[in-house]
Amino acid sequence: MHWAEVIAEDLAKNCERPLIATGISPTGIIHVGSLREAITGESVRSAVEALGKEVRLIYLIDSFDPLRKRYDFLPEEYEKYVGMPISRIPCPCGKHRNYAHHFVQPFLDAVRSLEVNCEVIWTHELYERGAFAQCIDKTFTKRKEVIDILHEVTGKEADENYAPYNPLCQRCGRFTRPLFDTYKYPTVEYECSCGYHGICDVRSGEGKLTWRLEWPAKWVIFGTSAEPFGKDHAAAGGSYDSGKRIVTEIYGGKAPYPIPYEFVQLKGVGQMHKSLGCPVTGLDAIMMTPPEVLNYLFLRVLPSRCIDYDSGMGILDIADEYDRMEVKYFQKEWQDSEDNSVRAYVLAQHNHIPEKLPLQVPYRHLVSIVQMASNYKEVMDILSRNVDFSGATDEDIRRLQRRCDCVRYWLNGFAPDAVKFSVLQSLPPFMEISMNEKVFFQALVRRMNDCSWTADEINSILSQVAKDSPLGQKAAYKALYKIIIGKEAGPRLGFFLSSLDKKFVINRLVQASS
Ligand SMILES: [Zn+2]
Ligand SMILES: [Zn+2]
Repeated sequence: MHWAEVIAEDLAKNCERPLIATGISPTGIIHVGSLREAITGESVRSAVEALGKEVRLIYLIDSFDPLRKRYDFLPEEYEKYVGMPISRIPCPCGKHRNYAHHFVQPFLDAVRSLEVNCEVIWTHELYERGAFAQCIDKTFTKRKEVIDILHEVTGKEADENYAPYNPLCQRCGRFTRPLFDTYKYPTVEYECSCGYHGICDVRSGEGKLTWRLEWPAKWVIFGTSAEPFGKDHAAAGGSYDSGKRIVTEIYGGKAPYPIPYEFVQLKGVGQMHKSLGCPVTGLDAIMMTPPEVLNYLFLRVLPSRCIDYDSGMGILDIADEYDRMEVKYFQKEWQDSEDNSVRAYVLAQHNHIPEKLPLQVPYRHLVSIVQMASNYKEVMDILSRNVDFSGATDEDIRRLQRRCDCVRYWLNGFAPDAVKFSVLQSLPPFMEISMNEKVFFQALVRRMNDCSWTADEINSILSQVAKDSPLGQKAAYKALYKIIIGKEAGPRLGFFLSSLDKKFVINRLVQASS
């Protein structure tokens, strides 16, 4: 059984209406690791659903967190917002409701394309409608116990002045410390470092629990049954450990089934976002990896295993692997060692498994074709020379189009130069072409004139003619790349040439050999 199915069985057995919580802190750039969390949550949700249980997945956005510092990608004027909740800071581009929306909305839109079936919840709205009030009340009335728990769990010295809840100063808009003695539900007074003395109402978004207290409070509010979270929270003495005790001893609730996950490492990164201090963001990963492949990438290993996200050639490898598992699934034939990968393929469909093997166009071929075409219609024209679309479904076409969009995004910022090329519209006037090369091209023209224009046929002609040429195969192929794309290497020739117009190729060979 796949790990998501193991967790799902546990939840289905032990919870009446399982609820899975995932979340994100949108204080700055959204990392690829956030995708792992969303996909892990969705895979468990759909596995519970497959067992016939009603189940919810919520996506909690920590929109009431303070801005911790002015990041390099923020304009200087943002210095003045440090310490304020990000739901109350203006958006940097002027098009979003606030700072939190600015960073998380594009990501949320993109996550939809992964068919993550979640309800989005903004933490600042929970505070504003008083959802935390009962828990906040308990942190004041049982503050001594809270301090003891934190001391015991973290091993750090007990801090008698610890404030589990921070009022938001009405004058300067920053979080500040409460005057504990003045607490009487639902209000507490505070004296801010800005000099302001005020009263805050814990039911109305005028203050916030600290992270170690807020997390378990969310478990109580939603009755969370399971939650994936980064392994840093899972460390001994970390916030899951303290949360477990606080939820039972202070709030009177239950801790969720923990799904700690390892971080995602970036490999082969591009040059795109140096200014952000982050070469590949979560949004980039969604834009350049087909959604079904991205789901598969995160589901094929245990959450406790580190994942390398390779934004270079690795994307092509994983897309090929996905397509291979898809074929195996539909042919109902695979090795025992591939069990887990085939299950991961199934789970990546979120309970919408196609009825038959979808149309597959090798991802590597798309990388070439997208570079030969200037728009999607041209892509389809080129593909139809080699691919039979007669049985293609609407979903097949949608998937193909999405894959082309991903390839284009990848080529624009992340693909290694070695795979990039463009077809020379005419032969450069001073290109050096040797006598042997000319003879090779002439021989090709004679054989190609009346061949059928398929990858297989072209391949067999190429290898025969190149073998007979004094150039040798390697130099012969190099010569072909030279006159067509002006490089020494390129996409696989058989498929590549068959994707070009036959007349165009023959004309080029004739020109180059004259
Ligand atoms: Zn904006
Ligand atoms: Zn203040």
